[in-house]
Amino acid sequence: MYDFLIIGGGCSGLSAAMYGTRLGLKTLVLAELPGGLITSTHLVENWPGIKTTSGPDLAYALLDHAKAAGAEIKSEKAVSVENLSASGSCPRFKVKTGSNEYETKTLLLATGTVHKKLGIPGEKELENRGVSYCALCDGAFFKQKTVCVVGGGDSAGKEALFLSEHADKVYLVVRKDILRAEPINADRIAKNPKIEILYKTELESIGGTDKVEKVKFKDGTGSEYAGKELAMDGVFMAVGHDPQTSIAKELGVLLNSKNEIIIDRKTQTNINGIFSSGDCTDTEFKQAITGSAEGVTASYFAYNICTSAQCAA
Ligand code: NAP
Repeated sequence: MYDFLIIGGGCSGLSAAMYGTRLGLKTLVLAELPGGLITSTHLVENWPGIKTTSGPDLAYALLDHAKAAGAEIKSEKAVSVENLSASGSCPRFKVKTGSNEYETKTLLLATGTVHKKLGIPGEKELENRGVSYCALCDGAFFKQKTVCVVGGGDSAGKEALFLSEHADKVYLVVRKDILRAEPINADRIAKNPKIEILYKTELESIGGTDKVEKVKFKDGTGSEYAGKELAMDGVFMAVGHDPQTSIAKELGVLLNSKNEIIIDRKTQTNINGIFSSGDCTDTEFKQAITGSAEGVTASYFAYNICTSAQCAA
C-alpha cells in the first residue's frame, strides 16, 4: 500500500514525488517516459534560481532529485483507477497498469497534456516526414532549409527561435493579427532576420509525396499569402495542447469545458484523496514552475490525509 501515488512524471509529478517522500510518504510515480513535455523545450530561462537550462536537463535534475529523496519511479502507464474508498474512512484507490496493480491512500493526477493536431490534409500522412510537433527533437534535420511554425502562443515563438538556429528561413504562421509569445521572446523574434511572421494566415493543407514539399494557405483570411502555395521543407505544429484527463473522467473527477481537471487552492479535486496538478488542471497560467508548485502543494495535503486519524487507524 502506497501513501501517495502519482500518475505522471513531468515537472509537476516529479516535484510532488520529491516532496512527498521527504514528508515520509511511501511514494510511487507511474510514468511511461519520465520527464514530460518540458523535455521538448530547448531553452528554459524562467525557472527561478537557474538563469538558463534546457528542458531535458531540468527534467533530469527533477527526476534525479525525486529518486535521491527515495521516491519509486516505474516506467509504467496507468490504464485505469478504481476508487475503493468507503465513506468516512481513509481513501483508497487501486491503480492498474498493463502489468501490475498498486493500492494507494492518496492519488495525484499529474497527467499533463498532448500536442494538439491541426487536422488538415497532409498533416497525418507526412508526420515524421517533415511534419513535427517538436523543434528540439527534429530541428537539426532542417539545416539550411525553409520551415514554418504554426501557432501564435509562446510555444510557437520558442519553436521558431530554436529553428532559426538551423533553418535558413522560418515562417511563423499566426491566424490572428497578434503574436501572444512572452514579450522577451516576441522581441527576439522581431530582431531575428530569419523569422518572418505571417499574420492572419492559416494552413489549408500540406503537400508532398514522400516528404513535405509545400504548404497551401487558406483563402479569404486577409493575408498576402491567402490562397497561395509556398515551397516548404518542414512544418512544425504549436497550436496548443489537449489535457490527458480520461482516467480522471472515468473516476468521476469534475472537469471544465476544456476537459481540464478542476482543482481548489489545495489542489484537491471533488473526490476525497484525489489531487491534480500541472498542465492537466484548470489553472490559467501554465508554467513549469506553477505545475511544480501545485505538485508540491498536493504532497502536503496528501500528507495531511495520510496522517489523519482516519488513515492512521
Ligand atoms: P497556447 O497558448 O494555447 O497557444 C496556441 C496557439 O495556437 C494560439 O496562438 C492559437 O491561436 C493557435 N491555434 C490553435 N488552434 C489553431 C488552428 N486551428 N489554426 C491556427 N492556429 C491555431 O499554447 P502554447 O503556446 O503551447 O502554450 C500552452 C501553455 O503552455 C500556455 O499556458 C503557456 O503559457 C505555457 N507555456 C509555458 C512555457 C514555460 O513554462 N516557460 C513555455 C511555453 C508555453 P489563437 O491565438 O488564435 O487562439
